[in-house]
Amino acid sequence: MDPLQDFRIPEEPFYLPRQREVEVFKAAARARLPVLLKGPTGCGKTRFLARMAFELERPLITVACHEDLSGPDLVGRYLFHEGETRWIDGPLTMAVRHGAICYLDEIVEGRQDSLALLHPLLDDRRILVVEKQGRAIKAHPDFLPVISYNPGYQSALKDLKISTAQRFAALEFDYPRPETEAEVVMGEAGADPALAEQLVRAAHRIRRLKEVGLAEGASTRLLVYAAKLINQGLSPLEAAETCLQTPLTDDEDLKEAVSGIIADIFG
Ligand code: ADP
Repeated sequence: MDPLQDFRIPEEPFYLPRQREVEVFKAAARARLPVLLKGPTGCGKTRFLARMAFELERPLITVACHEDLSGPDLVGRYLFHEGETRWIDGPLTMAVRHGAICYLDEIVEGRQDSLALLHPLLDDRRILVVEKQGRAIKAHPDFLPVISYNPGYQSALKDLKISTAQRFAALEFDYPRPETEAEVVMGEAGADPALAEQLVRAAHRIRRLKEVGLAEGASTRLLVYAAKLINQGLSPLEAAETCLQTPLTDDEDLKEAVSGIIADIFG
């Protein structure tokens, strides 16, 4: 039985490439290099990786990093169950042992000590030290560590350390080009071309508000959400306000600016 069956991607995920990320990623996988995906939230990093896992026929184990994420959460722990003590592999150990892609999403949210665990896995040694068991595991040849990082909204304290970043081949992501982004909205939500074009146009104008203080622009994900609400019968104006304005800011002036853009395009 395949121990990672549940982590395999059964169907080909829909993914439209932006540039040469597919070729570069596959080259890195063949060379067994760790990969860093850099870019704003909702621009397609996770979807891209699902597609790569599918094409490379490797399981994909995802860990959403957070400030309490400890070493044992990644590596594993002994559990006491029905009178016995049993070792349970954590997600990183599972990936190392069986040859999966291990995706550490939003790596800078994790604790430094848990990130330090990664280091011997990232160079030629490719070993995971399992302290609690007093041993080291050699990574399966197909093990591939991938991390993501959004340079946009973190505080300086949470910047990705250069000493960590230096251990990865990095792919820069951004929102797709307008024609590609419109195709994504059509492909994901079945929007017609005119609506997709309007949503993308609105997103472009909203993204420019970053210059006046908007923390993050409307993501591709939010455009897909808006198109899905329109499919459910909401007017484009209402759907755009629900997805492209309210989630993005609490600042009254910025809200008004976004509303103006939405009204101009959908009003
Ligand atoms: P991230 O991991 O960067 O936060 P996701 O990969 O979850 O973002 O992307 C959010 C959504 O946007 C996806 O679920 C998908 O609907 C859509 N999407 C973004 N970019 C693409 C793309 N290039 N091809 C297909 N879908 C995309």
